[in-house]
Amino acid sequence: MDKVEGAQDLVDALIKEVDGSHINVDHNDGSSDENGEIANGELEGKNKKKKKKKKSKAKKTSNIKPNEGKIPDEIPPPAPETFEETERWEKELVKGTQTYSLPAWGLLNDKSKDILNTFRTPSCKKMELVTPRLRLRQVEISDLTGIRRIKTEPIVQKTQLYGSPGLNDIKESFLNRYIRSRDDYIFAITALDPSTLQIKDPGQLKISNRIQNADGYLGNIAISLTWPSEAPSFLPKKGEIYTQPTFEEFKKYEIEGKMFYEIHPQLWGQSIMSEAFEEVLRFSIEEIGCNSVASDPTIGNEASLHLCIKNGLKFSHETNNIYNKPQLFHRITREEWFNRNRPNKEICDKWGGKEVCRWCMNFRLSPPTINCKHCVWAKYCSRECQKADWVRQGGHQSECDFIA
Ligand SMILES: [Zn+2]
Ligand SMILES: [Zn+2]
Repeated sequence: MDKVEGAQDLVDALIKEVDGSHINVDHNDGSSDENGEIANGELEGKNKKKKKKKKSKAKKTSNIKPNEGKIPDEIPPPAPETFEETERWEKELVKGTQTYSLPAWGLLNDKSKDILNTFRTPSCKKMELVTPRLRLRQVEISDLTGIRRIKTEPIVQKTQLYGSPGLNDIKESFLNRYIRSRDDYIFAITALDPSTLQIKDPGQLKISNRIQNADGYLGNIAISLTWPSEAPSFLPKKGEIYTQPTFEEFKKYEIEGKMFYEIHPQLWGQSIMSEAFEEVLRFSIEEIGCNSVASDPTIGNEASLHLCIKNGLKFSHETNNIYNKPQLFHRITREEWFNRNRPNKEICDKWGGKEVCRWCMNFRLSPPTINCKHCVWAKYCSRECQKADWVRQGGHQSECDFIA
């Protein structure tokens, strides 16, 4: 509650998250893919200019390159607390402490931003993916401008299946889902070194949507999990130490991840989305534990189709939608992905079954070292996460087995 700055980050992240999942869908895939391929060709060799497209495609399909992304080592636990720190935290974590619900976006004021900041802890923000050129990080409040540039750009909208949701829809969804969500993992795409990315001629882009450099938010990529109605929530339960769901559990309910993405048009054609797609696909299968991952570009979206094929997603069936734009559903299973990218190795479930913070659920962190003083089953990676759960309406304060 003390930090106001964090709140803004939260809001931004939420906004971005929402944007990514709802808006981008297939079209973004398509545009980024196509561009990506062409770009690939360019990057691969200037002497092959004449047959850029054909050559790069042939290369990709005939020469499967094992995924190079890796599961990182566990992030170590925080240093032990001093006596004073323990005392200070425990004062904030007493029965009767005021609880908060997430404020509706329209009512968000400076005071509620503080609350948002409390809920979005440092550990919540730590989940990020790195590729040779990109850092896929959590959304921040300062990303809002970047999001708007893409969302409001007619050239991008033209390629989107469902059109662009209103900013308020985006914000609302963000607020509703960022806490303890097992449904979506949404990343802002940023450049490790912005000077290495080429900013294309803006062409007919709206002036207000043009960019001069590749600093900050460039687009987003998300994996959205589909839960069958009979599947348990896999969220923390009262009376149980929380553990990361295992590959077996995800397999039992055939939990599938679906990819959504979009990137600023002036960055198309450099395989940026291709790079992000490959890593998020790996993360979804190798770390989250998705039993399969899908993408369903619309017919004619060659770029997106290529991205599917390049990454081993196979055509499954054609679907239609109310926009009368048939989609080509593609999917890769966990087994197929491992065969392709981890040849001669057994499927390894690195995080499944381990104890995980019941607030941030960040499975890349070391097992939680902070325990609730009043019960044996509520464990957290940090005091910030413990406090978030304590002050949330319906959170741990309402479910803990108080001794007194
Ligand atoms: Zn945590
Ligand atoms: Zn407790």
